[in-house]
Amino acid sequence: MNNSKVIIKTLNEHGYDAYIVGGYVRDFLLDKENSDIDIATNALPDVVKEIFPKTILTGLKHGTVTVCLKDAQYEVTTFRTESTYINNRKPDQVAFVSNLEEDVKRRDFTMNALALTIDHQIIDYVGGKKDIEDKIIRTVGNPYDRFQEDALRMLRAFRFVSTLGFTIENEALLAIKQNAHLIKNISHERILIEFDKMMRGTNFLKAIEVLVSTSFHEHLPILKNGLETINKTKIVPLDLFEFLTICAVSSSYEQVMELPISNHNKKEIRIVYEMFELDIIDYPKPLIFRNGLRNCLFTNKLNVFLNHTTDKKTEIIEAYQSMPIHKQCDVKFKGDDIITLFNKEPGSWISDVLDDLCLKILIGEFQNEYQVIKEYLQNKYLKRS
Ligand code: ATP
Ligand code: MG
Repeated sequence: MNNSKVIIKTLNEHGYDAYIVGGYVRDFLLDKENSDIDIATNALPDVVKEIFPKTILTGLKHGTVTVCLKDAQYEVTTFRTESTYINNRKPDQVAFVSNLEEDVKRRDFTMNALALTIDHQIIDYVGGKKDIEDKIIRTVGNPYDRFQEDALRMLRAFRFVSTLGFTIENEALLAIKQNAHLIKNISHERILIEFDKMMRGTNFLKAIEVLVSTSFHEHLPILKNGLETINKTKIVPLDLFEFLTICAVSSSYEQVMELPISNHNKKEIRIVYEMFELDIIDYPKPLIFRNGLRNCLFTNKLNVFLNHTTDKKTEIIEAYQSMPIHKQCDVKFKGDDIITLFNKEPGSWISDVLDDLCLKILIGEFQNEYQVIKEYLQNKYLKRS
């Protein structure tokens, strides 16, 4: 809380109310670390901007100003309500209000609607403290309306099941069943961010179980079969890339490739997908070299959980550790040496030669030594008959 106190104190000294709000307060009561500190105040954004020497106007439209202190940045948001919702997501405008009570009423869950004063007093207008004690995820106000307003909140509820191990209260669960279809209005980016956070929770399987039991996954067509696979096989822990790979092998490879993820992740998914589809269950050194240790280990894990094959984890790791080279640049005869030896213009032929060298070194045909490799190349490619 340390530095955020400076901000609250400064705002107080200028005659404004200010509190820590949101996830930090929830986690404070749960004795959990949270470095994401949000401050709410009745000072208008322009005022916040004036009071603090260094600010960034991050989300001025939504009343948020980032205050930069020496060692950290804090988001300071003016008390507000949210008025019109478009397509069950993000209000198009916000109205600033003068008191905390109205501000907390716009928040998603009671556990996220608490405020913390500078002297550690909890302000609770919605019964959030009791719900945290009882480990219950309850919307602020009518769950049906709140999920209609913003469909992402349903996914946030599952995310909190995973990260906190809490239970979604019955009416909210019913409202999720009734409004699940609205998730189609939420962008893939936002959905993946929530799943990424969900994966990190220690109760991920519980979250998936609830998600599937409410048929919410039926409205996530690209992820649907993958979620069913996870629920059935209990294959955890997973990261987002592994989760999407499971979705790919569970039927939606082409659609997964269309998702907004990095080309690097797409490549990794493709590698595992292909090994899995080819029913690869043995992992010789050249394969581990080409496809990477992590991808081979994950293909093995998929096979163990989905196809009940023998676990090859130990063999894969041992094979990897005993490999004389792990990347192309480990070869003692470099690209420049090859050019000099062949006395040819550089081109893609170099990587063909290097591939050949890697393979031969990996299968033990010769040692990774400069002179040995040079002789091999001379004999194979340059010797005139
Ligand atoms: P985390 O610990 O992951 O940061 P968080 O609860 O702080 O979780 P944030 O996304 O940082 O989540 O949001 C901060 C606060 O803003 C929430 O605690 C909640 O009060 C409010 N909030 C966030 N998203 C929504 C939403 N979709 N609808 C209503 N209120 C929301
Ligand atoms: Mg937060």
